[in-house]
Amino acid sequence: MRAHASKAGLEDAIIFNTCAVTKEAERQARQAIRRARRENPNAKIIVTGCAAQIDPDSYGAMPEVDRVIGNDLKLKEETWTDAPPEKVAVNDIMAVKETAAHLIEGFDGRARAFVQVQNGCDHRCTFCIIPYGRGNSRSVPMGEIAQQVKALVESGYKEVVFTGVDVTSYGADLPGSPSLGQMIRRVLALVPDLPRLRLSSLDPVEIDDDLWRLIAEEPRLMPHLHLSLQAGDDMILKRMKRRHLRQDVIDVCERARSYRPDMAFGADIIAGFPTETEEMFDNSLKIVEECDLTFLHVFPYSARKGTPAAKMPQLPGDIRKERAARLRELGDKQQQKFLKLHVKQQRQVIVEKGNVGHTEHFAPVRLDKEIEPGHLVTVKTTKIDGGMLCGHVVGN
Ligand code: SF4
Repeated sequence: MRAHASKAGLEDAIIFNTCAVTKEAERQARQAIRRARRENPNAKIIVTGCAAQIDPDSYGAMPEVDRVIGNDLKLKEETWTDAPPEKVAVNDIMAVKETAAHLIEGFDGRARAFVQVQNGCDHRCTFCIIPYGRGNSRSVPMGEIAQQVKALVESGYKEVVFTGVDVTSYGADLPGSPSLGQMIRRVLALVPDLPRLRLSSLDPVEIDDDLWRLIAEEPRLMPHLHLSLQAGDDMILKRMKRRHLRQDVIDVCERARSYRPDMAFGADIIAGFPTETEEMFDNSLKIVEECDLTFLHVFPYSARKGTPAAKMPQLPGDIRKERAARLRELGDKQQQKFLKLHVKQQRQVIVEKGNVGHTEHFAPVRLDKEIEPGHLVTVKTTKIDGGMLCGHVVGN
């Protein structure tokens, strides 16, 4: 978007790429837009992203906003260079059938590169507004992904993260329906110089056989998986219309650790989904310990207009918040326990801004030496300090 805007002479415009996943995200977006206008009375303010895609007119009605652009149009050069006269330009996202790779040469100030391999989602989990912002599932062809990864590796990136809204559904819309595992295998073969690959959130029951083989055998695939867990109680999972049950997640974690005993897990969890009792919530707490999950992304349930869960009996906001706080507290404990296991070990760290970085298992490390971001260094971890490991650099 930045490159397209610059080409169109809009390098000084302020672009808001909004999120719609919770009410709070939307509230913050509106607040930031108003603040930006106060602080930059003459700048062009352009709003795009999921919140703008789902509710374009409300953003169009904000006097602070100059233009609203939909999620599909925002990545097309002509949207920026041949701007239509109307303030709001948003098309039907459900009609979008393809997603293109966007050749990005780098990411400002980041040591890891994020490559979107898939977009949209064909599922309709009852709490989720995302498909209405992103459309149906579509995948980037394998060759385009390999080309993008190659370009990033050539420009110095040592780690690539494959992202998507529902990455485990990768490939179903492509000729020959390659699976996510097949695509990764091919990309790793085509780009042998890529040292590290990581994956974003996986649907636990949709890990394909090729991906399992990679988890077992491929050292360049990092020993860190993030699961779209959402809840640990079967009744809540059914009401969420998820495709897994509690036991499925336990089995996935066990299987992954049978291949790689050091596997670290992250998980997305919602606290206070409609009808969730204290006992049901307890199952979410229990599964974190049972599966020994480390990196928790906790969201208090947020009702999104137009979703089935918004019409279910809601829990009071303070209960949702209080449960989210308990889950986060457990997450902190789990992270401390995990860090302890990683003290006095030799690890490879990709250096990020401010002399910090992440190990293969995604443990955050503070280095004892000034190193240029982007470098892959070997460290000896010495102790834990403030939720991070301290690392003594021993080589690069
Ligand atoms: S699979 Fe993920 S993106 Fe798709 S509807 Fe469910 S929660 Fe939303």
